[in-house]
Amino acid sequence: MTGAEGYDVLVVGGGPVGLSAAWQSRRRGATVLVLEQFGFGNEDCGTSGEERHWRLQYTEKDLCSLTAEALPLWRDLESRTGRKLLHEVGSLWFGDVDVQTNEGQISGTARTMDAASIPYEWLTAAEIERRYGFRDLPRRFEGFLQPDGGAADVRGTLHGLLSLAQDSGCVLRDHEPVLELTPDERAVTVRTAAGTYRAAKVVLTNGPYANQLLAPLGVSLGFDVFEMALVTLRQRDRSATYPFWYVFQEPTDEDTNLFYGFPPNSWAATDEVRVGPVFENNPLPSAADATGTPDRRHVERVCHWVRDHLPLVSPDPVRVATCLAVLPSDPERQFFLGSAEGRFTGGENVVISTGGWGFKFVPLLGEVCAQLCLDGATSYRVDRLAL
Ligand SMILES: Cc1cc2nc3c(=O)[nH]c(=O)nc-3n(C[C@H](O)[C@H](O)[C@H](O)COP(=O)(O)OP(=O)(O)OC[C@H]3O[C@@H](n4cnc5c(N)ncnc54)[C@H](O)[C@@H]3O)c2cc1C
Repeated sequence: MTGAEGYDVLVVGGGPVGLSAAWQSRRRGATVLVLEQFGFGNEDCGTSGEERHWRLQYTEKDLCSLTAEALPLWRDLESRTGRKLLHEVGSLWFGDVDVQTNEGQISGTARTMDAASIPYEWLTAAEIERRYGFRDLPRRFEGFLQPDGGAADVRGTLHGLLSLAQDSGCVLRDHEPVLELTPDERAVTVRTAAGTYRAAKVVLTNGPYANQLLAPLGVSLGFDVFEMALVTLRQRDRSATYPFWYVFQEPTDEDTNLFYGFPPNSWAATDEVRVGPVFENNPLPSAADATGTPDRRHVERVCHWVRDHLPLVSPDPVRVATCLAVLPSDPERQFFLGSAEGRFTGGENVVISTGGWGFKFVPLLGEVCAQLCLDGATSYRVDRLAL
């Protein structure tokens, strides 16, 4: 198409996965353009706040292997950015050990860790209370501490990837939403309000907005978008230390009854802690319907759980925010990752990564996208996550 700017790889969406895919493609010699609808580092989609849970453990064996494969890529990112990004404060899972959740299942995950020789310590409710300051946990609760898990530094990762993408020569344009993709057998034409681009390969890393661009091509990925609450509280005792925690409970009639929390971030001088619910209630009709204001009931549920069980933390919110969770409707599927080959004309020229609790895989997802674009295949075992 005459007049269209040409690139080897065009990335739609400049979140952490898009920036990682862009940088990994550029360092292999491809010319790369990233188009971001908002600003880089925006908090309006699937990435907001300061931290995400990093963990080695998964109930599913293949995802456990994948976290092990992601770890050296994180180490490489840390050495290139000169900043520690994974903070191993420990990952504590406790509660009803057989309850099945979107995060996994405690008993099944322990079996997978046994098979994979991932170390962990099994703990009773009384031990969890004594060691970490929880109280009044139901006596049936049990769980484990996996000491190599903890928190990933979201802002450090985003800044690092943005600098790497910029310094390596990616062209980065923000406030330029992609309006339309027209793939054909040779390449993909991409339209924005500012112009038309032509790219040999397009990577769709536009999170909760993926289906908006895919629908006109006759494809809709099966996921729901939930506007989840992020609640910041204050720790009463600054000297108390405890790991990242996630409590698995049977669902109530109203919600999935799951809560998690971080200790104060070790990379910031703060007594603030973030806690949250994982309630898969009331999916948004579309990502654009997000309000940025959490459901008041969800915030109250979090604060009540903290008041009842975590006296180290004051249950009065310092501030609240939201983040868009993109969760596959099929509980057996955690992510959408792969080429769109066979889904529409020119699908072989479109690579997609969206959905799930994906922050822990950011460097790996970026590398997979770059491999799919530049090699037509990936060296990682991610077939189960294909579209
Ligand atoms: C509450 C919550 C807690 C979470 N906790 C964890 C956790 O503990 N551990 C973990 O591993 N993961 C967790 N996740 C998931 C993780 O945060 C996300 O998987 C990850 O941050 C998503 O990054 P991304 O780059 O794929 O997408 P996003 O960050 O959503 O980025 C997509 C980008 O695409 C842009 N975009 C969209 N449409 C267009 C368009 N048409 N044109 C141009 N740009 C466009 C958007 O503006 C956005 O910047 C959590 C998510 C939520 C919501």
